Amino acid sequence: MNGRNRAGIVERVKSGTVLGAEGYVFELERRGYIKAGPYVPEVVLDFPDAVRELHREFLRAGSDVMVALTYYAHREKLRHVGREGDLEAMNRRAVQIAREVALEGDALVAGNVCNTWAYDPDEPWAKDVVRAMYAEQLGWAVEEGVDFVISETNDYLGEALIALEVIRELGLPAMVTLAPTQPDRTRDGYSYVEACRILAAEGADIVGLNCDRGPQSFMPLIARIREAVDCAVAAQPVPYRTNATALTMQALRSETGQQAFPLALEPFGCTRFEMAQFALQARDLGVDYVGICCGAGPHHVRAMAEALGREVQASKYSPSMELHPMFRADVSTKDAMFLNTWNA
Ligand SMILES: [Zn+2]
Repeated sequence: MNGRNRAGIVERVKSGTVLGAEGYVFELERRGYIKAGPYVPEVVLDFPDAVRELHREFLRAGSDVMVALTYYAHREKLRHVGREGDLEAMNRRAVQIAREVALEGDALVAGNVCNTWAYDPDEPWAKDVVRAMYAEQLGWAVEEGVDFVISETNDYLGEALIALEVIRELGLPAMVTLAPTQPDRTRDGYSYVEACRILAAEGADIVGLNCDRGPQSFMPLIARIREAVDCAVAAQPVPYRTNATALTMQALRSETGQQAFPLALEPFGCTRFEMAQFALQARDLGVDYVGICCGAGPHHVRAMAEALGREVQASKYSPSMELHPMFRADVSTKDAMFLNTWNA
């Protein structure tokens, strides 16, 4: 595949916690390279340096996996934005960029597919449409060199199973994670726990959840999944303060009742300390692949890596608050005057 003689994802989750980082679409939208709404990763062809840079930031922050930015780069979505002709180039280029950066460190390259919006459990023909979309995306990914595939934000178990089948036919390890959008069931009516059990039985190497929920409302579900399956488990929440009332980021409302998702979520953002705490809780629960989804920044990922006991490239610039003029032990008398107002 990529010619490197090193441990793959299956070995890595067996020998320790793997740290993942995602949220490329959200972050590149914030930076002005992706249009909110369609959320198609046109940036891969239009501004490849922006993609390369974000991969590098996550790599320096400690991510063990570079996830190719092919989220929503499928036929259905590209047709909506009039770029169906760029489908193959976009998919190939995304893997090439992820691979280039992965080689700068010891990261693995993950191919990526997601929910298609074309699946309908009541329409038999929809299965073939979805299968064809996954087969063409992943066919290109395999040719460009991926170590494993992440199928993510799956709303339907039925659609996730199609992805799993395609990944297994290609002979690659499969990580399949569901989007916990609803209180406890997939859109085709399986409890998230049962859906993960079925995915594991069908041969997924890693199962779990990603996106939609922040750590607080994410963890109870993940704990139940961890108990229910023997295979490796992945947990990639969003860094937003969801809770028992607002289970998902889509349910978060401003003080005036406005929906915060997806463009006004900043007031609900988790700090790096909250995400570090999540990483530790997940590891202690027995989660094998600990990550972060939409809303992630490199500061979150570095804090998670350091909480897991690692020193990463970006640790060189980790906080040294004892060197801050106002937080140091020997604050000068002149500067200490400011503390009166800071502490007021
Ligand atoms: Zn996400």
